[in-house]
Amino acid sequence: MPVGFDEKDLARFPFLTEAQAKIAGSQLNHLDTFLASGIGRRIIQKATDRVEAALTIPPQGLLDHFRLSEGDISNPLESLYTYGMARIIVSCLNDRTAFERLINYEARRSSFFLMNDDSNETAPVEAARREAVAAQLGLSLSGNTVTVPAYIEMVAGLQEPLWRLVNREVYGGLVRVYPTEMEVLLRERIRVVIRARGMPRVPPEVCEHLAVSVGHLSAVLQGQMLRDLGPIDESRYPPCMNALLAALLTGRNLTHMGRFALTAFLHTIGLSTTRIVELYQRSPDFDIEKTLYQVEHISGRSGTEYTPPSCATMETNGLCAGRDGLCERINSPLGYYRKMRGKAAPEQEPGEDGV
Ligand code: SF4
Repeated sequence: MPVGFDEKDLARFPFLTEAQAKIAGSQLNHLDTFLASGIGRRIIQKATDRVEAALTIPPQGLLDHFRLSEGDISNPLESLYTYGMARIIVSCLNDRTAFERLINYEARRSSFFLMNDDSNETAPVEAARREAVAAQLGLSLSGNTVTVPAYIEMVAGLQEPLWRLVNREVYGGLVRVYPTEMEVLLRERIRVVIRARGMPRVPPEVCEHLAVSVGHLSAVLQGQMLRDLGPIDESRYPPCMNALLAALLTGRNLTHMGRFALTAFLHTIGLSTTRIVELYQRSPDFDIEKTLYQVEHISGRSGTEYTPPSCATMETNGLCAGRDGLCERINSPLGYYRKMRGKAAPEQEPGEDGV
C-alpha cells in the first residue's frame, strides 16, 4: 500500500525526499526577503535554539528534550523550515564539530519520532508509514538482515564490540540484525544520509545577515568545547603529544607537521596563544613573529580553526610515538585526551566521543 506523508511527517523526518523538495520550493530560496520578514526572524530564532540544543545537550539528555519539544510540531511547516535554517546557520558557522553535532541531533530526533509514534492512527496505518520512512533509508523495520556494505557504513561511528562485523552473524552477503537493534541502526543510517548531503552553500551576504546568531553559536561552541575537555591536565596528554612536547622542551626542532599537530592539539584543549608561543621559545630557531603568526593561523585567526590530525595521519607522518593500551580505542590524540577524562568521570554514552 503506497503511503503519503503529511506535513507533520515531513517535520519529523526532514531528511525524506518529500521534505527536501518542500524546503527547496519554499521561501528559504528567497533568503533576502525571507530573512527580513516576521516569520523569517521567528525561524532564525528557532533555528538558533535548535543548533544550540545540538551543541549543548548531551546524548543522554536528548530523549527528554525531544519529549518536551514535541509541541514544536504543532506548526509542521515552521518546524521543517527551522531544520533548513539550522543547516544554513551551521554552514555559516563553518565548523566541523558544529556540523557533526547537528547531524547527531537530527539523527536522534528523527529516530526518536520513528520509534515513538504518538499519532492517533490505527496500528496498520502507523506501521505502514514507519515502514515507508525506513524504506527511504534503505532499511526494513520488519526485516532481520542488512547487506554487508550498508551495515559497515551504518556502524562506522559505533565503537562497542557488539557492532563489529567479526562479532555478527553474516551469511550470503547479509548481516543478521535484531529488532532491538533497529533504533540504533536507523539513527546511524539517518546520520549517513544527512552527512552525505553536506551543508548548503550559503552566500556571504546571507551569513552577514545571520551574524548575530552565528556569533552567539560560535561563543556557545567554544565554551562547550572547553567544558567537554575539562580543565587542562597534562597527565591526560597522549604519548605522541608528550613526545612532541619533550622534544620541544629539550631544544629540538619539530617538523612542520609536528608543529602543526602539537599547536592544534594545545589550542583545541584550551591553551591560550600566549602559552603556546611560550612553549616554542625553547625551539632553537625560535622567531616570535613567525611563531605567533603560525599559532594564530592554526587557532582560527584566518577564519579556519584547525583540529589536531587523526592517529592515521600522525602515523603516516611518523608522529605516532609510544602508543599505549588506550591508543587501541581511539582514533585521534584528542579522543585520547577525552577518554582520559572519561576514565575519571564518564559523561558520554559508550562509543561516543560526542563529536
Ligand atoms: S595512537 Fe594516536 S594518540 Fe596514540 S600515540 Fe599514536 S597518534 Fe598519539
